[in-house]
Formats: sequence, structure tokens, C-alpha cells
Amino acid sequence: MMNIALIAHDRKKDEMVNFVVAYEHVFQGHHLYATGTTGLRIMENTKLDIHRYMSGPLGGDQQIGAMVAQNELDLIIFLRDPLMAQPHEPDITALLRLCDVQGIPCATNMATAEILVKALDRGDFAWREIVHKYKQGEE
Ligand code: PGA
Repeated sequence: MMNIALIAHDRKKDEMVNFVVAYEHVFQGHHLYATGTTGLRIMENTKLDIHRYMSGPLGGDQQIGAMVAQNELDLIIFLRDPLMAQPHEPDITALLRLCDVQGIPCATNMATAEILVKALDRGDFAWREIVHKYKQGEE
């Protein structure tokens, strides 16, 4: 089971909902996390159970970022809006930076999201579980 975070900016929420509906069978085997409104929209349209954090502009990105900092997330789909300034731009930048610090796969557009979810379905991210177990053994 992987820990997956889903975030979509307002003009990307329909796209996110359609995407998760299409791949609901893949997502249902995993632990899901989302920012407030994104999570609500997905839960309204699927049978998925999602742990919802605060709305992005109110700190939800930072809460997900805290999971990333502790290497507790295995995959992030973050459909951001590249054409509109966001009030919480610093939080977005911080989250993406932490993904690079920890080497966590993060899709910021649909093309990459499709590839990652197919890889997830094939079990391509199982190596993360092995790394986690190895690290836990070290501590
Ligand atoms: P939201 O947050 O899912 O609560 O809308 C996402 C964002 O805008 O970062």
C-alpha cells in the first residue's frame, strides 16, 4: 500500500476528479491524502476514502509538505494552475522543493500523472516499501 497525495488548484479540479474516477480501481488499494476541497470533490464523485487536510491556501500544502519532509508519501499528483497566481505560492514552491529533497515522484500535469498512475498499477513503486523497511531497520 502506497501513501498518495492529491492536490488540484481550482481550475484543475474537474480534471482531477475525472482522472481519479477513471483510475478509481488503482487508487482504491492505497492510502489517500488530499487538500480540503480537492479531497471533498473526489469523495463526492467516488467511493474512495480520503484523509483531508486543510484547504491549500489555509495550510493544506504545508501539511502535505510535512508528510513529505518525513518521507511518508510515496507519490503526489499536484495539478497546479500554471496560468493563475496563487496566494499560497510560497507553500507550493516549498512542497515541490521537499519532493526533490526526498526524491518523491510528483506529477504536476495530466501527462505525467497518467504515466505515474500506470506505473503505480504495475507495482513500479514497490521499491519505496523496500527502502522504507531498510531505513526502519537502520534506526
Ligand atoms: P484545495 O487546495 O484542495 O483546498 O482547493 C488546493 C490548493 O489550492 O492548493
